[in-house]
Amino acid sequence: MRTFLLVTVLSVSFLAIAGICLGTMYFVGKSSEEELLDRTEQQAANLADQVALHRFRIQSPENTLDATINESAFLAGGRILVIDQNYRIQKDTFSFQQDAYIISEDVMSVMSGEVEKVSRIRNSYAKVILPIMDEENTILGVIVSTASTKTAEQTFQSMLRSTTRLGLIIVPIVTLAAILVSWLAVRGLRDMNRRITHISEGNLEEKLPVKGFRETRYLARNYNAVIAKLADIDTTRQEFVSDVSHELKTPITSMKVLAESLLQNENADTAAYREFMTDIVDEIDRETKIINDLLALVKTDKQNAVMNFSMVNINELIDVIMRRVVPIAKTRNIELTYESYREVNAEVDEVKLSLVISNLVENAVKYNVDNGWVRITLNADHSFFYIKVADSGVGIPEDAKDKVFERFYRVGKDRSRDTGGTGLGLAIARASINAHGGTIKLYSESGKGTTFTVRLPLFQDHSDEPDTDSDRKKRDGN
Ligand code: ADP
Repeated sequence: MRTFLLVTVLSVSFLAIAGICLGTMYFVGKSSEEELLDRTEQQAANLADQVALHRFRIQSPENTLDATINESAFLAGGRILVIDQNYRIQKDTFSFQQDAYIISEDVMSVMSGEVEKVSRIRNSYAKVILPIMDEENTILGVIVSTASTKTAEQTFQSMLRSTTRLGLIIVPIVTLAAILVSWLAVRGLRDMNRRITHISEGNLEEKLPVKGFRETRYLARNYNAVIAKLADIDTTRQEFVSDVSHELKTPITSMKVLAESLLQNENADTAAYREFMTDIVDEIDRETKIINDLLALVKTDKQNAVMNFSMVNINELIDVIMRRVVPIAKTRNIELTYESYREVNAEVDEVKLSLVISNLVENAVKYNVDNGWVRITLNADHSFFYIKVADSGVGIPEDAKDKVFERFYRVGKDRSRDTGGTGLGLAIARASINAHGGTIKLYSESGKGTTFTVRLPLFQDHSDEPDTDSDRKKRDGN
């Protein structure tokens, strides 16, 4: 990137400098040529007027015309010819062709009035041919004036020298500036790269400094956010592993204690064996339940969730769950009621949603008092449906309300363990509801009861899913 910047800045700067110099030289060269032609033309016009005034009496002692012409030619570093109507050279500042006749195309065309004048630069000479006219504009002859472009060339050459000198000063300055600019531009990135390498070696607590150019600051801020998230995931993962190990260890420890006490008791009879074995089987069941719940949680976790959405009649889904839980509720004389305000059909993952509702209803029975009640209600508006599970149970203490959705959290661990809880049910429920794009809220008063309210969308948003073949065909209309 640095080389790219350096090459780009240098190329652009040099092209710009070269463009400016060449342009200036071209215009200066052109304007000095034009100026020379103008000057020569003016001088020739002036001389033509004087020749006309003196009626070609150039060498006459009455006037200084001859000297003026000679001086003009000398100053211009050129030659002046005065030609009369008969094409005879009346004056040649070089004297070569004095009194000779001249037949030249340019002279003839000006003499005949075919062209007003000839004015051009050729072979380092500016050449101007003008007619000599009297007051009635009758052409009496022509004047041919040539002037050397040497002075213009000299100006141009000196200009070239100045430009080269200026270039020799500017080029190193521009080069240094380009090196400085490219170095400054990549300095932040280079520094960032060094720190990222350090962070990637496992130093997740380190942050990138938010400084430098705006783009580098954005990059650093976003990178820090990603790293913070990574560190968060890392902590959560470590906590999860430690929670899981602890939870899985508890039944194993119990089994070990049970088995060891059997081994130590040499006189244990069959009845004792049966009793201990029943306890061991219970612990195995618990271990299996924890593992199953863990698997369910991993599957429902938003990132891993594979959702099988389909249109499901929610009223029927709740009916099925009700029928399954009613016998359990009856054993403790808990009244289970279900009220539906309308028929609800929604796009959900049937298995996962069924697990959520089962968990909430089972909890409402589990953490209830004998002779209590559980009320389930279902309602919907134009975009969401709402399931409410209210109970008359033991309630959830204020400080535990946020925690009940955390993995393995149980209010009064022993109480929950007696009811066969793993502390994973509500974590699974929340993950499942989130994967549906819904929310879960809880209202509870310790000793009075608890209400869980679930809000879920009636339809899923498929806009971010990739097109299937059939979608594409439908859209294209074939
Ligand atoms: P568990 O398997 O222990 O039931 P959950 O995640 O389903 O795990 O629930 C977490 C904890 O929240 C439970 O241990 C229990 O203490 C409390 N809880 C859940 N539902 C209710 C309820 N309806 N009434 C009172 N306490 C509840």
